[in-house]
Amino acid sequence: MEGIIKTGVDPHEFEPTPDDVRRVAKADLVLFTGKGIEGYLSKLEEATGGSSKFVNVGQQIPSLTMNEEGEKIEDPHWWHSVANMKRAALIVADAFEKADPRNAVDYEKNACTYLASLDELDRWIRVKVAQLPYGQRKLVTSHDALQYFAHDYGFTIYPIKGVTTNEEPSSLHVKELIGNIRNQGVKAVFFESIENPRALQQISSETRAKIGGTLYSDGLGEKEASTYDSMMRHNVSTIVDCLK
Ligand SMILES: [Zn+2]
Repeated sequence: MEGIIKTGVDPHEFEPTPDDVRRVAKADLVLFTGKGIEGYLSKLEEATGGSSKFVNVGQQIPSLTMNEEGEKIEDPHWWHSVANMKRAALIVADAFEKADPRNAVDYEKNACTYLASLDELDRWIRVKVAQLPYGQRKLVTSHDALQYFAHDYGFTIYPIKGVTTNEEPSSLHVKELIGNIRNQGVKAVFFESIENPRALQQISSETRAKIGGTLYSDGLGEKEASTYDSMMRHNVSTIVDCLK
């Protein structure tokens, strides 16, 4: 098992190198996040000849939509919903079983164990989030990546910009957002791990919202968020503790 995109790399901007293409060509099975986040997908399929071993995990998971430059697109950040991770675990186990039927029983057993740990994680998140009254479940982040999380756990999102992480927010949008934060009494705004924090700093200095900790929106982190479980726990703790 190998990840092509390394920790801290922005998946919206990533392009595979010739070496990555060689690794994909040699793999028995290639799993994709899907929902448009891998803009190079068809290129990669072409370069590696045939897509029989390509499994587009996100394609089989229900979508939320988001706005990108006035256009409605699928929101690719589906993994911030634990319910979606459970769907993904079943999709991946199924793909493993098809690719390697002799070990099917093991894949099923492992999937069961993982599903139980995701249920435990979901329970933990719900207990933690319950510390925040509904009126305080307001998220201001530098990149609109937490819609699926917000949808599952009852938060409202005030994004600083749309899906891509490379565009600078317009000054009009920032002004609007500052008004919103003041009116709603939002207590904290959040950084994301691979973001340019300038706009957030401006917003924080012009409102009473403090700058909350770093959220991992587009990938895992080093120590504190190096697994899905620890990444989710880190994000939820950071959000709840800062907004309390
Ligand atoms: Zn993203």
